[in-house]
Amino acid sequence: MKTIPHRLYLTEEQMPKKWYNLRADMIEQPEPMLNPSTLEPIKEEELYPVFCKELARQEMDSTTRYVEIPEEILNFYKIYRPSPLIRAYNLEKYLNTPAKIYYKFEGNNTSGSHKLNSAAAQAYYAKKEGLTGLTTETGAGQWGTALAEACSYFDIDLTVFMVKCSYEQKPFRKAIMHTFDADIIASPSNTTEAGRKILAENPHTGGSLGCAISEAIEKAVTTEGYRYVLGSVLNQVLLHQSIIGLETKTAMELLGEYPDIIIGCAGGGSNLGGLIAPFMQDKLLGKANPRIIAVEPASCPSFTRGRYAYDYCDTGKVTPLAKMYTLGSGFMPSPNHAGGLRYHGMSPILSKLYHDGYMEAVAVEQTKVFEAACLFAKKETILPAPESAHAIRATIDEAIKCRESGEAKTILFGLTGTGYFDMTAYSSYLENTMTDYIPTDEDLEKSLSQLPKIPGIQE
Ligand SMILES: *Cc1c(COP(=O)(O)O)cnc(C)c1O
Repeated sequence: MKTIPHRLYLTEEQMPKKWYNLRADMIEQPEPMLNPSTLEPIKEEELYPVFCKELARQEMDSTTRYVEIPEEILNFYKIYRPSPLIRAYNLEKYLNTPAKIYYKFEGNNTSGSHKLNSAAAQAYYAKKEGLTGLTTETGAGQWGTALAEACSYFDIDLTVFMVKCSYEQKPFRKAIMHTFDADIIASPSNTTEAGRKILAENPHTGGSLGCAISEAIEKAVTTEGYRYVLGSVLNQVLLHQSIIGLETKTAMELLGEYPDIIIGCAGGGSNLGGLIAPFMQDKLLGKANPRIIAVEPASCPSFTRGRYAYDYCDTGKVTPLAKMYTLGSGFMPSPNHAGGLRYHGMSPILSKLYHDGYMEAVAVEQTKVFEAACLFAKKETILPAPESAHAIRATIDEAIKCRESGEAKTILFGLTGTGYFDMTAYSSYLENTMTDYIPTDEDLEKSLSQLPKIPGIQE
């Protein structure tokens, strides 16, 4: 009998050498991004002031099926990849389920999440094109940390605009980014026009992601040799994250397995898009038909209660318009929301696939998410990021259904990262002060009614 290992790591030879571009196999393409001033589809050149050329090209490329991963990026990946595919034997046993549960663990690097997979690619291409610096914003700090690691490795400067209240509340996140030599500025700051304007109006504000984005973009477009980078939502980010799914598919093939159900948490859609990529390819080509489930917070329900519409990608309304599931760019999750995944929109690729019926979505309440997180930590010994715990919640629910129906399904989920920097949220759950808040239809209507009007396309 073949023994099945708890953890399967691919060898360096077995690791993918190419990313997979899901758009090449989509039957219908996502709607084009629009230039916010002309309302015409964006051209690649129009992205050059913001993104470096190769990344602008990747953003617009819907036909190249496989993209060679440059050797320098492969060499960086080899430091922390392959990530393991793990069978959750102990959780299965505890749940007394006939289901087999596998998870792909992306938390094995200092940034603590899958975000490093795209940060590495973005820093590498910028450096290769001779740029000297990048700017970005960060809220909770995972993206800022991943990008700081990547920029330090590829030797390019980084300025992170960190939302002021996080800057004050998360000194350890700041310290990690400093370790990797990133320049961190509390936003709003007096280093940009946008920041000075906000400070003049409201000197004691704690800042917002929208404001941090405006400052980061302003710094990028006004500094010679600088560009702006983003850690989720974009097509290029899903391309880079396909490494997660490609490794998983190879590992499952080695085990003689194929998932019946694939589950991932969804903030902007990058880990989910990456994990499902090669399985969605099978689905699009009619080779297999796994169920694919996106899991989102009930307090920020873009897929399950949002609208499929053109919207700004940022609160500051400076980015191009993308057609996606959105709650409106002005949407802010309730202040008691602690579980991450607070972005108002969703990857245009995943939005299109969801709209066309290729995947499902569920929304879960945060106390149920933290309950699942604590159970998982005890049974599997990994303390999950609250974001990842959304996928754990839905996996447990599906495994319990298998117990009830007696079906031995194979479930695969993405464990995107670790939760060491989220202990305030864990404490609030453990001390019973965490509450659930589900926005009312009226709450959502406030931001949905502000969706941009586009003559002839969206009235
Ligand atoms: C950022 C983050 C997410 C959500 O982002 P996606 O782009 O939806 O993948 C999920 N898990 C962790 C650990 C993260 O840091």
